[in-house]
Amino acid sequence: MVTQPSKLFLIILTLTLVFPAGDTFAEDFRLLRIGTGGLHGVYYPIGNALAEGITSSNIATGLIAVAQTSGGSVANVQALTSGDIEAGLVQADVALWALRGEGPFTGEEGRPVRALASLYPEQLQILVRRDAQIHRVTDFRGKTISLDVAGSGTLAVMRIILAAHGLSENDFNPVYLKPEFTTERLADGKLHGISLVAGIPVKAIAEIAGQEFSFLPIDPDIASIITHEHPYLVPSVIPAETYSGRPEIPTMEVNALLLVHEGLDEDLVYAMTAAIWDEQTQALLRSAHSQGRSVTLESAVHGLSVPLHSGAIRFYQEQKLLPKEEPTS
Ligand code: GLU
Repeated sequence: MVTQPSKLFLIILTLTLVFPAGDTFAEDFRLLRIGTGGLHGVYYPIGNALAEGITSSNIATGLIAVAQTSGGSVANVQALTSGDIEAGLVQADVALWALRGEGPFTGEEGRPVRALASLYPEQLQILVRRDAQIHRVTDFRGKTISLDVAGSGTLAVMRIILAAHGLSENDFNPVYLKPEFTTERLADGKLHGISLVAGIPVKAIAEIAGQEFSFLPIDPDIASIITHEHPYLVPSVIPAETYSGRPEIPTMEVNALLLVHEGLDEDLVYAMTAAIWDEQTQALLRSAHSQGRSVTLESAVHGLSVPLHSGAIRFYQEQKLLPKEEPTS
């Protein structure tokens, strides 16, 4: 019996013939894994656009970037620290907690994370069934609400929101699932509410947000108290008509950052930074999601909660976004 060589075998054979020295391949190409979020979030399409932009950039030759799905911000910090990814999208509040060993990282050493850029704002979105009679967060008592998975930034934010309302996860029936598993359950009545911190609009929410659902507002006074303790989580609104027929909804927002490990090579981070602000990557971002338009070079160094990586600093100094450091004599 003649067996066909597997596709992987043919790829390896081709690479071996093209790069016979073995490690020449490794020297000429560098794989960059970008941690994103769930399939129904915004990190994933934005991460894909960044990966495609970096890979096809003429500035950063030899880089092959791929976007990977993940639990979200907290999982991305963990994967960055363990070397399982080279870059990751992380909420600014989660990034600061990682640096300081606070919040989900309490009791741990500060994580060696650095920023490459500030990207776009993410809004807390809580969608509830109208028949569940939930008008404020305190009405969660006795209800079944999804708070996203343990690796998500959403869960970290929801815990702060709950605490600010005098609630804990013991007061209701919490469910820990990514939105790809919750929107249908919400529509079927198996869940009373779902939550997600993500760039607006979220397609999966827009698809189900009929008149049987409403968005839960966050009281601006409570939001201000939260900001006092968590300065990167700020009061904001989901503007009217973001979701068809909906009025403005008061909520909270946080910036999404692109992070790398502090120890990542400076020239590599410089090349990644330059590739992201290339016009081609900008066009990819704009077509990936409407928040792609918020990803601008001008805002790249604003709203950062952790220090920039030295490779990114070099690029932003050249672009005159940051002052050049005076040589000390
Ligand atoms: N901000 C969310 C998190 O960190 C992810 C949102 C998204 O996937 O767009 O869990």
